[in-house]
Amino acid sequence: MLRTIRIQLIIIGVVAAAVQPAHAAEELVVYSARNEQLIKPLFAAYTKETGTQLKFLTGNEGALLEKLKTEGSATPADLLITVDAGNLWLAASEGVLLKVQSKALAANIPAHLRDPNGQWFGLSVRARTIAYNTGKVKPADLSTYEDLANAKWKGRLCLRTSKKVYNQSLVAMMIAQFGEAKTEQLVKGWVANLATDPIADDTKVLEAIAAGQCDVGIVNTYYFGRLMKKDAKLPLALYWPNQNDHGVHVNVSGAGVTKHAKHRAAAIKFLEWLSSEKAQNLFADENMEYPANPKVKPHEAVAAWGSFKQDTINVAQAGKLQVQAVKLMDRAGYK
Ligand code: FE
Repeated sequence: MLRTIRIQLIIIGVVAAAVQPAHAAEELVVYSARNEQLIKPLFAAYTKETGTQLKFLTGNEGALLEKLKTEGSATPADLLITVDAGNLWLAASEGVLLKVQSKALAANIPAHLRDPNGQWFGLSVRARTIAYNTGKVKPADLSTYEDLANAKWKGRLCLRTSKKVYNQSLVAMMIAQFGEAKTEQLVKGWVANLATDPIADDTKVLEAIAAGQCDVGIVNTYYFGRLMKKDAKLPLALYWPNQNDHGVHVNVSGAGVTKHAKHRAAAIKFLEWLSSEKAQNLFADENMEYPANPKVKPHEAVAAWGSFKQDTINVAQAGKLQVQAVKLMDRAGYK
């Protein structure tokens, strides 16, 4: 089995148990769209605690989903870990995930951060918020995502490309919130305010804001964290929009047990552990994300950005409305 995987896959790793238990160790196979550096410490901690051996392979979310579909019931994978509710939703709708009922997961993960059908669970929260140039914008100038469509931001806005699932999910959630007609008007307003063509990634959006190419943008907060770690003097800050109404747009990275998991009970147990207080910081901190379990505090470097009210609309909407969002962005001229 290992041999076949190694031939087909980009990376496969085995986290060895620190202590070999006397009895035959349980084993789990994880397909992960989160990279090795992020998952390894987490897996090592679980192996150390339980003796369960974790084999994993990493790859991009599309490739892993295709692989699960192709392998069907022959898949060695017990668990799929990926980012963005849009991707988790797609995996569920393609029929590769198992419906799981778990009291621990229901207690640890708020309802809006997991699939209403129990096929996937958010394990960390990613806030997609407004970033601004502190030399050019005062927090009082900012208010909502919708306000960025206002003519006062003409020539001052930078956005990442609409091809990225993060923006597709953001717009999908806006459709759920405001309906299609209003969302289209808002997205057209954003496009009319752009200072530059849409930008390839969130880091470059932040760099453009810092360089004064534009004044505001929308980014996931961990990119801000990474950039400020490199250069704390950059004239950048985060703003939490919509605090008087629906809150900051959040998405998740998360996981689901595969439909054909060979170690179903062990996979559910691992998923429950991932949602637990002891594992949540390991899952979120490495990438400067927020724990999904509200009982767990974010890392102090992340907490320093301030607390905020998050949008509690179910993140599954990001998947359900994704096709509609992509079409809408196309009509609005958002490249
Ligand atoms: Fe990202």
